[in-house]
Amino acid sequence: MTPNYQRLTILGATGSIGASTLNIVRLTPERYPIFALSGHHQVDALAALCHEFSPHYAVVPDEHTALRLKTLLQTLACRTQVLKGAQALIEIATDPSVDCVMAAIVGAAGLAPTYAALKAGKRVLLANKEALVMAGDLMMQAIQEAKATLLPIDSEHNAIFQCLPLRFLAPRLFPALKVDPLLAHAGVEKILLTASGGTFRDLPLAQFASITPEAACQHPNWQMGKKITVDSATMMNKALEVIEAHYLFGLNAGEIDVVIHPQSIIHSLVAYTDGSLLAQLGEPDMRIPIANALAWPERMASGVKPLDLLQAGTLSFKALDPIRYPAFSLGYEALTLGGTAANIINAANERAVAAFLSHKIPFTAIAQLTREALNAIPIQAASDFDTIIGIDLQARAFIDQCIKTF
Ligand code: NAD
Ligand code: MG
Repeated sequence: MTPNYQRLTILGATGSIGASTLNIVRLTPERYPIFALSGHHQVDALAALCHEFSPHYAVVPDEHTALRLKTLLQTLACRTQVLKGAQALIEIATDPSVDCVMAAIVGAAGLAPTYAALKAGKRVLLANKEALVMAGDLMMQAIQEAKATLLPIDSEHNAIFQCLPLRFLAPRLFPALKVDPLLAHAGVEKILLTASGGTFRDLPLAQFASITPEAACQHPNWQMGKKITVDSATMMNKALEVIEAHYLFGLNAGEIDVVIHPQSIIHSLVAYTDGSLLAQLGEPDMRIPIANALAWPERMASGVKPLDLLQAGTLSFKALDPIRYPAFSLGYEALTLGGTAANIINAANERAVAAFLSHKIPFTAIAQLTREALNAIPIQAASDFDTIIGIDLQARAFIDQCIKTF
């Protein structure tokens, strides 16, 4: 095996993170042969990727989509085998010949294959934050049991990952690497997640109720999928990221701060006991964290130009206004409540965002309904997969019921 030769499965290959990952693979394709790609309903895009990367397998959700993809692949003389359904996602994430899985499906649909990849001891690159929010304890336990490796892709968490010493990270995220447990704390006081403030950071509050889906899908700094772009506008994204950070780095709510940084140049920071703050800076481009995780523990070119500090100019920071972002505090609340609370807000938000995107509810109802779900649904211990899926379905049904009143 050449250094850094990794056979890849990309879950969510047709999305924004999938596209950025494949852009990096194109730079050195011999180091990252593609074992399998998954898509949902973007069949043309998936066919084109199969034609270019010749994976062994492509996975789509159902029979109808599979037939369409097979037909397209035949016309392209492409020999990729088409599989369908949720079980096929698990198979391509756990196949013995896969070294590394990019978990880039959006939302709860990504949980089962991501969890399965960890249980199979794979190296998992985690973009799908919702999976960790839903099943953080189970996923962290799977890493220990299977000696898997989990590397964060979310830009803030990857920044923190880069600012923390190996001896702090290894026991949780890659337990196969042995470190002296006495040194593990490493003087880390807290972490600071930066937040751009999203699309409506300067919009007068009186106009929030009339925000359209089209307006909410424009982000000032990042090009991303629709769901995360809306989550950035409500700040539910940051709420989910607080929970994500809790699991990745083993920190409690009091050790995780959030600061608004409109330029998205500092991607997050670690505060140490001696008063030092370490930060990671770069262009707001997901190819940087993806390249960092793909090559880790080495470094590789990402195709992104280095940050020009003079052009970046002023970097500014301000406190987050909880009135502007009522969804934000749900993250800390869910963390403090524990059990399936994070599950409830994740599922309720996912459903409410989908309803907003299809013009069924106003923008302001996303946070409102998510809060109502958290208040209404009894919290249980998140001790097994079935309970987690049950609560997820319950929260979605609750939101569907509420939506009828709009
Ligand atoms: P996207 O909407 O662009 O892509 C989502 C991918 O998931 C697509 O390939 C789609 O086919 C697939 N998918 C959607 N629903 C599915 C389902 N029910 N079953 C199977 N596959 C399904 O989203 P994205 O922006 O690439 O985000 C992916 C994940 O990465 C999200 O969890 C997001 O929070 C996270 N993330 C994204 C960014 C970013 O810059 N885009 C940054 C940080 C974290
Ligand atoms: Mg992020």
